[in-house]
Amino acid sequence: MLYIKAVQKSFDGFMAVNGANLSVDKGEIVAVIGPNGAGKTTLFSLITGQLKPDSGEIIFKNENIAGLPPYAICRKGISRSFQVVNIFNRLTVFENVQAAVLSHQKKVLNLFSPAKNMAVKETEELLESVGLTDKADSISGLLSHGDQKVLEMAIALGNRPELLILDEPTAGMSPEETAVSIDLIRRLSRELGLTILFCEHDIALVFSISHKIMVMQQGQTIIQGKPDEVRENKQVQEAYLGG
Ligand code: ADP
Repeated sequence: MLYIKAVQKSFDGFMAVNGANLSVDKGEIVAVIGPNGAGKTTLFSLITGQLKPDSGEIIFKNENIAGLPPYAICRKGISRSFQVVNIFNRLTVFENVQAAVLSHQKKVLNLFSPAKNMAVKETEELLESVGLTDKADSISGLLSHGDQKVLEMAIALGNRPELLILDEPTAGMSPEETAVSIDLIRRLSRELGLTILFCEHDIALVFSISHKIMVMQQGQTIIQGKPDEVRENKQVQEAYLGG
């Protein structure tokens, strides 16, 4: 589904991504790990079009999407949630997701017109699938951090993506919230057949839910493979698994 080859991106001569390679098959949960500054977020921004690569290929469903603008990449089926929560704080949970669903249908949410009643069923289904039905009428800015991250996932799902990219989906969450999010990621993969690419600091979590893991260091891919293969890699053991 996604194939990244020799992608490079520099900022004022500093190579933030310096030869990243990654392949993601349909239906897989794939994690990108690496120390702070390894280039994970930059790589995700290159895939979703917030940044343009200097060189390399980003092939999504047999098409090179490198350098396309974010809206075009989103329309092709890639959605993203961010490390810092990105929601409309003053809208309700329902309205946030409804706005995403309507945007996917190329319509605009207008809270003071009949448009308010559009896409209700789709919105309700999405809220149900992420477990936010009972908070549909809550003001989004007042939700717990964990619920806001889940809401952000629901907004990303409003675009009906085939590939969902999550930047640190459990950052700042309590252990209970983390467990809910992990369960959600597994269900989205299993029940909706969604392909999920995420980066995450919690290594135990990464090894427990990923089908494949890619390790980045100083902008480069040092290994990608099944969790067992990655676990056996010497560099990975020294850096993450206590030798
Ligand atoms: P990670 O997500 O793995 O922590 P990042 O992709 O955020 O790493 O950053 C990789 C490197 O690129 C870091 O050294 C960071 O300071 C640098 N970097 C990221 N974005 C920019 C930018 N817009 N301008 C300059 N340097 C940047």
